[in-house]
Amino acid sequence: MKRALIKNKKNYATFMFIPESQSSVKSYRIPAWLPRFVAIFVVLFVLFTAACFSSLSSLKVKYEISMNEIGELTTINDSQKVEIEKLQKSSEEVKEHLEENFRALEEVKKAVGIAPSSSDKSIEIRLASLGGNSAVSLPEGSTSHDMSGKIASIESDFASLADKIAAQKQLINDSLGPIKSQVAYLKAKPSIMPVVASITAGFGYRKNPFTSRGSEFHNGIDLAAPYGKTVVSTGDGIVIFSGWNAGYGKMVIISHGYGITTSYSHNSKLLVNQGDKVKKGQAVSKVGNTGRSTGTHLHYEVKLNGKNVNPTKYFD
Ligand SMILES: [Zn+2]
Repeated sequence: MKRALIKNKKNYATFMFIPESQSSVKSYRIPAWLPRFVAIFVVLFVLFTAACFSSLSSLKVKYEISMNEIGELTTINDSQKVEIEKLQKSSEEVKEHLEENFRALEEVKKAVGIAPSSSDKSIEIRLASLGGNSAVSLPEGSTSHDMSGKIASIESDFASLADKIAAQKQLINDSLGPIKSQVAYLKAKPSIMPVVASITAGFGYRKNPFTSRGSEFHNGIDLAAPYGKTVVSTGDGIVIFSGWNAGYGKMVIISHGYGITTSYSHNSKLLVNQGDKVKKGQAVSKVGNTGRSTGTHLHYEVKLNGKNVNPTKYFD
């Protein structure tokens, strides 16, 4: 196949088409500007197409970057959600610990015989009113708006926990003094047996053991312990007398504070001196039969503000 382009003088161009298999020659006359126009059009088309491809590939790159960023943000969001849930759980745990501490403190007070005072009650109420931090698990697909709501809720929880901790610290400080005082009293209180033995004579009126006629007031208790058995102080205190005291024989008197004194009489041996500090359960003497006594035993007395009281009332 052959082609020919012939320009004429009137700004026209003629295409001649000469097929090899046929005898007739075909000619096409076109304006002279058309080939240039077509060439420019083709160049512009190619440039436009190239620009389109360039923009498209650039958009594709941007799209991929955006998708990666969205993926990363989703990962961060998920991990933040987990962190927020952990924080919520932590705040709940701290609240539980605070309540456990509060209950433990109340138990200590109860154990030593201190009733919760009205001021304690008010703090208890305050503690209760400060509650309201509910651990709500975050629903799947929470929006960022939901998340900021949760964060605000957690901030509020921790602020109220800080108040609770401060209130509990105050409560503990306020309770320490009374607890220490009560523990000191319990240590001093003559609550144990001075010697492990049976009581052969109780507190109160009894028949006179010496004359067997009439009655006398027995101002203590008699404990039938064997000779030489160790006698112990029934509470913390200070020895205010240790020596011979007429009918009481070898005697120890201990002051426990709170207006309470105890005495241990008819001993065979004294183990403490006046002025000694003694602890509950500490040995002070040995059982004997000195003074006005009908046989080996310990005569034990408790006085409250100078008046004899029944020692068994103090035993645990
Ligand atoms: Zn007696």
